[in-house]
Amino acid sequence: MTDAQDHPVVKDIVSRFESRTPKSKVNDQAAQNRLPGGDTRTATYYLPYPAYMDHGRGCKLYDVDGNEYLDMLNNYTSLIHGHCHPSVTKAARDQLEKGTVFGSATEIQYKHAEHLCDRVPSLDMVRYGNSGTEGTLFAMRAARAFTGKELFIKMDGGYHGSHDYIEVNVFPGSAPAGGVPIPRHTEPGAPQSVLNDMLVAPFNNLNAVEDLLKENQGKVAAIMTEPMMGALGMVRPQPGFLQGLRDLADKYDTLLIFDEVITFRISTGGIQKVEGVTPDITALGKIIGGGMPVGAFGGRREIMEPFSPRHPQTLFHSGTFNGSDITMAAGLAAMEAFDQAAVDHVNALGEKFRQGVPAAFAKAGITGMATGLGSLAQVHWKLGTIAKAMDTVEGLFLAGELPRLLHLEMMNRGVYSAFRGMFVVSTPMTEADIDFALDALAGALDTLTPYVKDIAPHLLAG
Ligand code: PLP
Repeated sequence: MTDAQDHPVVKDIVSRFESRTPKSKVNDQAAQNRLPGGDTRTATYYLPYPAYMDHGRGCKLYDVDGNEYLDMLNNYTSLIHGHCHPSVTKAARDQLEKGTVFGSATEIQYKHAEHLCDRVPSLDMVRYGNSGTEGTLFAMRAARAFTGKELFIKMDGGYHGSHDYIEVNVFPGSAPAGGVPIPRHTEPGAPQSVLNDMLVAPFNNLNAVEDLLKENQGKVAAIMTEPMMGALGMVRPQPGFLQGLRDLADKYDTLLIFDEVITFRISTGGIQKVEGVTPDITALGKIIGGGMPVGAFGGRREIMEPFSPRHPQTLFHSGTFNGSDITMAAGLAAMEAFDQAAVDHVNALGEKFRQGVPAAFAKAGITGMATGLGSLAQVHWKLGTIAKAMDTVEGLFLAGELPRLLHLEMMNRGVYSAFRGMFVVSTPMTEADIDFALDALAGALDTLTPYVKDIAPHLLAG
């Protein structure tokens, strides 16, 4: 058997990538001097070095070497209209002419808020920040302030940004027999004390959530979850799970927080709108900024009203760029252009892509499939039910280096995606773009077949 790194398929994929991207390689070497690893965002780094992107138009991205890619990353789901959408660009440009941020209340802020609240069932009021991380941080702050309780239940493997409280069990943990996963940090750096406040349950497991609520009666401020787990596998809620969480929150007098930072794009008002389950607080980000940095949290009036400086016990929430006018202008234009017809369009293309994935794997004789909803898809190197983050991780263990190699080979074939196997659709895409992506996938899997035979024969189908 050939050693995995020296396998001819690996060498071939990497050398074709390197010969397409010489200017990126030069950039990478220069960048390493001042940016650890040459990058400033863990999620955008990949071996042998990232392609340096230069500009984008519609659903296409172009790197510094002039290679064109179908952009199925969408800056990790945030660019619902791809790049340079005319009305978003116009709104941003018009605002740029007037100024980007004024350190003041402005009209565009409440216009954006009105639009958001009209769309999302749980929102009576919102507040803005500059990232989804701030959105979830302040969603938690709001829950604690409102309930006077300290603890949170989050899902094992759930990703909600990079603040200390929520970087617990981002990589799912093993559970003692019959028990729930033990809260732990994936990496050093976050305070251990945070672990005292976080409880962890597997997604789609109402019994585990209820056990935690029973054991910690009167102490849990909120159950916090994405309505579909994004980062670790596009894990869909099983029928009744979200309503079950709502019922448990009511039964045990705690709040329900939905993180719809990614899933807002599933409908005109997030998954909560399609599922008919209304959380008390919602965290948002990504597409609501029209490609500018953004985050938001909002919910019932009585929960949000204390953030008013007019409130007798006002809750402090500030930030130099909160509600910056350029973000609000671009974001409002992006949301206005993301109407029901646009939602239907991207969701249909997403469905077409998800349907095509198992066919491409089957044609190559390799085990694999896709999960997801609407315009979001995740490739798994396994078959069967994906009900919790650990199911995704099991697939990753089976796949070893294959997701990374597939990502690079897809780039060689002109498709840019997340190296963890996430593929995202934007409104400028057409059926022809999805066909192109599926052809690239079939071709990439074909290229990988000798590697699978030698290094991962357990993934050969049949
Ligand atoms: N919540 C979810 C579900 C996310 O996927 C992310 C980021 O990917 C965040 C929160 C954090 O958003 P940001 O990266 O803007 O801080």
